[in-house]
Parts: sequence; C-alpha cells; structure tokens
Amino acid sequence: MSSHHGNLKIYNSLSGQKEKFEPLHENRVGMYVCGPTLYSEPHMGNMRTFINFDMIYRYLLVLGYQVKYVRNITDAGHITNSLGEAEDSIGKAARMEQMQSLEIVYKYNVKFQELQRIYNLLPPSIEPTATGHIQEQIEHIEKIINNGFAYVVNGSVYFDVKKYSEKFEYGILSGRKVDELAEETRTLNAQDEKRFFADFALWKKANPEDMQIWRSPWGDGNPGWHIECTAMSTKYLGPHFDIHGGGMDLKFPHHEDEIAQNCGSLGCNPAKYWMHANMLNVNGQKMSKSLGNYFLPQEIVEGSTELFDKPYSPDVIRFFMMQAHYRSNLDFTSDALNAAEKGFSRLSDAVMLLDKLTVATNSSFNVGELVSSFYTAMNDDFNAPTLIANLFEAAKKINLINDGKETISKDDLNILSAHLTIFISDVLGLRIGTSNSDSKLSPVMDLVLELRQQARENKDWTTSDKIRDGLAAAGIVVKDTKEGTSWS
Ligand code: AMP
Ligand code: ZN
Repeated sequence: MSSHHGNLKIYNSLSGQKEKFEPLHENRVGMYVCGPTLYSEPHMGNMRTFINFDMIYRYLLVLGYQVKYVRNITDAGHITNSLGEAEDSIGKAARMEQMQSLEIVYKYNVKFQELQRIYNLLPPSIEPTATGHIQEQIEHIEKIINNGFAYVVNGSVYFDVKKYSEKFEYGILSGRKVDELAEETRTLNAQDEKRFFADFALWKKANPEDMQIWRSPWGDGNPGWHIECTAMSTKYLGPHFDIHGGGMDLKFPHHEDEIAQNCGSLGCNPAKYWMHANMLNVNGQKMSKSLGNYFLPQEIVEGSTELFDKPYSPDVIRFFMMQAHYRSNLDFTSDALNAAEKGFSRLSDAVMLLDKLTVATNSSFNVGELVSSFYTAMNDDFNAPTLIANLFEAAKKINLINDGKETISKDDLNILSAHLTIFISDVLGLRIGTSNSDSKLSPVMDLVLELRQQARENKDWTTSDKIRDGLAAAGIVVKDTKEGTSWS
C-alpha cells in the first residue's frame, strides 16, 4: 500500500468541491463509468472520456487500492437524441446495415476492444451489457413502483418526479430545479402519457418497428435509457459505492435520473463521489455524431482523416490528452498535436538516457522531493498536466546529469527510474519510445521501408506487398503520400 494513498482529493460534482477521498470500505474502491452505446464506432470524443477514466483507474491502482471497475456497454434501450427525442439508435443502425441489433453491437464492440488495445487502456473488471440484465432492470422498476415513485400507463412505466420530489431532491446533481425545467422542456401534448413533463420512461411499450423486445409484467417492451446503469451498478457494486463517472454531457438527465432511480428503489444515492470528464471539442464545439464534426480514433493513427496531414502515434495522442486536466475541455489542432509529439519525444529521450547515466556518491538535488511532486500533482484531483510538467523537470535533471552539470547517487537513480516508470507507464499509460520520430523502431523501419521502396522500383510487387502485409500484421500501418512514405 502506497504511503501516498491517504492524500487523494477528488472533485465531487455532487458538492462542487474537491473532497478528501475516503472509500466506503478501507483500501477497496468500487467505480462505475457509463460506457459507449455501440450503434457505431466510438469517436475520438468518446475515447477521451474512456482514456481519462483509464488514467483515474490506473492511479487508484498505483496508490494500492483494490479497484473493481465496472464500465457498461449499452446495447438496448431508448436513448434520447441531441434534440431530446426518444430514439432507438441501435435499431436504426441495424435496419440501415441490414443486421440484427446485437450483430451491430458485436461489430462495433470488436472495434471498441481493438481501440482500447491501440490506446493502451486497461480492461475494466467487467463490461456488462444492458441486454444481459433485463431481469435486474425489471426488478428495479418493480421496486420503484412499489415504493410509489412510478406509474404504469398503457404498457409503459414512468418515473414520477413530482412524487419523488416530496421525499428526495430531484436536481441534486445537476442543480436544476423542477420548476425551472418546465421552461426548458416542451409542454406536454395530448398524446403524452406522462403526468408531468420531467417524468421519464423506465419501461417503454413495444413499437411495431422495435428490433429488440422483452416480456415484462407491463407487457412487451424495452427498458428506458437510465435504468440499465442502476441495475448493473447495483448488481456489481452494491446499492452504494465509491465513484460514479462519465462525460459531462451525461450529468443531466442521465446521472440525475440514475440518482432518482437508486433513491426511488433502494433509498440512497448510488455513489459517494460523482466525477465528470469534460468534452473533446472541435473548433469550440462538442465532438458528436449528430453534428458530424467527428473523427475516429483509428483515422488519426493511420493519418487518414482530412483534418490532419500526418498520422500520430496513439501514445502521442494519449500524451496530448493527458496535458489537459480531465475537467477542462480540449480542442484538437495540428499545432497542438505536433507540439505534443515533440514533448513526448523529449520525455522519452530523457527516460532512455537513464540506463546510460554515470552515478556519483551523492546527488546534487533532492530526488525525494521531485518524486513527491509526482504524487502531489495526481493527488490533487488527478492533475495529469501538472504531473507532466513535473516529469519534464525530471527530464531536465537527467539531461543535466548526462552533461555532467548535476550528479545523482545510485540509490537515487533507482528511485527516480522506478517512479518515472510508475508515472509514465503505469499512471499515464504511455509507452516510452513510441513517439514515432525517435523510437528504437525508427532505424529498423527506415531499413524495412527502404527495402520496400527498392522492391517497388524493381516492380517486385510480391515482395513489396509481403512487407506491407507483414507490417500490418504487426500493427504497423504504412501510408504512401506525395511527400514520401510514413508509418504509424
Ligand atoms: P455515448 O456512446 O454517446 O453514450 O457516449 C459514451 C461516453 O462518451 C459518455 O461518457 C459521453 O459523455 C462521452 N462523450 C460523448 N461525446 C464526447 C466528447 N465530445 N468528448 C468527450 N466525451 C464524450
Ligand atoms: Zn449510465
């Protein structure tokens, strides 16, 4: 158990403050993060949220906590689209691609798992699916009805926000007041089954065009969007656990409604700490499928998006993301990515010098203090940008030692090396030597690409294709452009 694990502070969206992190059960942490809706390939914005929570998970592990990390996969349910309308996005995609709903989900889950490997995300403890937990969702809805916080209309079940507000505070997380919500939401029309505009569906009666339908005590239908997370978080982490996370855009209504459902069925807010990661923007606007301003995580490493004129290694992208705090929003630009590529190279070069340093009897600077600054940064609400600034301080020292302007003892060098590995690899999830321009692979790749070029000049297509396919099998993508050949 790390001696630094008692000093972590987390910004809790529930209180709007940084709070000392005290897990409910000593040394154990339960964390639930809302996962992707797999009706299409996750975009770079989605990945940013998952990468941020991967960093949070990694740091909790480094602090010595035993973490159970649950991140769901949404493969059923009526999701609200950006216009606030209910929409079965998976069914829609399935019809378009002439597949079954679960074929669509499987197809994009294969892609999502591949992206996690490319971007070096640790697998969660479990990735449960909504369709695998329909029974649990039904049982939760029954509890909410029995407690008087939901009503049945024509085969659908709605959460009764007014009734709930008599006992609990609806809006506790988002700060929205039920009365103020009235002004934002369209007024109820005659066909609306809801008693009150803020009521939300727990179960929706089946529509003729629904591709997935389940039996329930209220007739055939589909679970509402929010209930899956309540059912799965309770099943794997219990009624009250430590951390609940997701993107900022899920705060309302999704997380607000999760809290209402949990209080409505089990009498308590599900999580002690609510964490929200900020958005990846494009020209100041949230990256989203519906706005069409998105690019895919694979496109950027292959260099096939129009937005950037070259590929970037996944580690450079991760490094770039870690240079922004998880609660700040972030804009992707070529200039910023190029700067990140240089920065990561500089850090990698310094780390690779460690093995070559000559040790002295004494250190000319305080290594313990430097290492402590890594923990201090991360203990301050996972401040990865400050950690990176402190890692650059370490890189500067390494270069000075190499130039004979500072000294380090053998013990201190071991301490520094070990902590650089912990913070760069284990916490930030970065693989040293993968910044493309300066990696150990570079000279080898130069040689292989030269041989391929020779084969092409000799019109020996068998050899040139063999090289290309062999590299692809090793996860290296070669791209020919007017300027020459690049790889990632
Ligand atoms: P979805 O598949 O739409 O349910 O989203 C999966 C996760 O990605 C959620 O936690 C969202 O909050 C998050 N997300 C969606 N768009 C963005 C974005 N532009 N930047 C960061 N996170 C996002
Ligand atoms: Zn959720």
